[in-house]
Amino acid sequence: MSFLDNLYKELILEHYKHPKNKGELPPPALRAEGINPSCGDELELFIDLQDDKIASVKFTGEGCAISQSSASMMTEAIKGKTVSEALALSQKFKDMIHGDAPAEELGDLKMLQGISKLHARVKCATLGWITLEQLIQEAKA
Ligand code: ZN
Repeated sequence: MSFLDNLYKELILEHYKHPKNKGELPPPALRAEGINPSCGDELELFIDLQDDKIASVKFTGEGCAISQSSASMMTEAIKGKTVSEALALSQKFKDMIHGDAPAEELGDLKMLQGISKLHARVKCATLGWITLEQLIQEAKA
């Protein structure tokens, strides 16, 4: 275990213990639910869209440290972005987690790159992003 691995682990735990943007947004905020049955992770995501921008975002949920800290990091990463920027970020994040692409332009989300080697936890790390994509899809429908 390298120093960097330990550092990343601590940052993940820090997001788990002190999640960013935890809570709910009242209607008419958009809402979507995500579940990762293989680990028992649950997530509820709330987004307030203004024009095409993510004006505010919150989440609630329960589950393992990876699922909850990944969702916390995601809310920080997408706040203020347009819908298409958020979707592009989601694709980049999934590429990184699936080990298909380097972690470029991902900022703090790079902390989660090590999970690409832990196949059982990939679904934990992507739960927030998959829920985000689902929310956007439902909003467009
Ligand atoms: Zn999990």
